[in-house]
Amino acid sequence: MAIQRTLSIIKPDATRRNLTGAINALIEEAGLRIVAQRRAQLSQKEAETFYAVHKERPFFQSLVGFMTSGPVVLQVLEGEDAIAKYREVMGATDPSKAAEGTIRKQFAESIEANSAHGSDSEENAAVEIAYFFRGSEIVG
Ligand code: ATP
Ligand code: MG
Repeated sequence: MAIQRTLSIIKPDATRRNLTGAINALIEEAGLRIVAQRRAQLSQKEAETFYAVHKERPFFQSLVGFMTSGPVVLQVLEGEDAIAKYREVMGATDPSKAAEGTIRKQFAESIEANSAHGSDSEENAAVEIAYFFRGSEIVG
């Protein structure tokens, strides 16, 4: 397996409850390295563009509202098989289906307010990382 990078977002439900450090601990315990990190308030336009693939889904407007409801922490994670590994660390989208020990099992409030985002493919990881970070901000 190759070293990969993936985009992580610690979502507003988690920053509101002061869980950035707790989530970062789970990331690092899994062997992933946080090679870029920035706290940000997403604008409506940024959230709509980021989630454009979901624009026909019934939850789109609600999701954009949620993602702009407070600060997020944007991160680039690096490691062996990082994309799939971080999806495992996050757990299932619906926290009631997430495995024990995962971020979403421990911290998510609902299927929408589910504490973390992680890229789902190499192609999307590259697009999502470039959307939020310049190369010089990622230091591996
Ligand atoms: P993410 O893209 O955030 O890593 P994911 O890939 O597990 O999560 P997606 O299907 O890509 O899930 O959905 C993107 C996000 O939209 C979810 O993380 C969640 O916040 C929200 N979402 C997904 N399904 C629903 C739903 N049925 N109702 C409300 N919100 C939803
Ligand atoms: Mg997704």
